[in-house]
Amino acid sequence: MQENEKRDGKTGKIHNNKHHIIPTSRGGPKNGWNKRSVNKEKHAALHTLFANLLPEEMILIIELSWTDKKGLLKEEILSHDQIRAWYHLFGTNQTSKAAMIIRGDWDLSQDEKEEWEEWKLKRKKKIVDFVKKTKRMEERR
Ligand SMILES: [Zn+2]
Repeated sequence: MQENEKRDGKTGKIHNNKHHIIPTSRGGPKNGWNKRSVNKEKHAALHTLFANLLPEEMILIIELSWTDKKGLLKEEILSHDQIRAWYHLFGTNQTSKAAMIIRGDWDLSQDEKEEWEEWKLKRKKKIVDFVKKTKRMEERR
């Protein structure tokens, strides 16, 4: 989910049409490269189906848990809302097709993935610098 998502009190539907590929709740940046303009209904369906999973986690849960031996969606383990969301997003019960759509529409590009890695490194460095500074201040006491 992202900030500023206005929810309808009754239906809980998401009205915002900006989606963060790496959810801010999972440490994703608010930067432009992490944001997508999306159709509101598809956006709501995505979060109904996957909550705040990362793209690779969406694909993992589909492959490891939601796919039967024929490569079709195991509808019996999803809620009615999730099943409706699935067909809204993917329009098919073939799970390999859904994984392809996630990789195409709901994942970062290769360049964006590199930005994400850099961003994580920068954030880690900030934390390490802060800890070092705090230790130096303690040693002076
Ligand atoms: Zn979102």
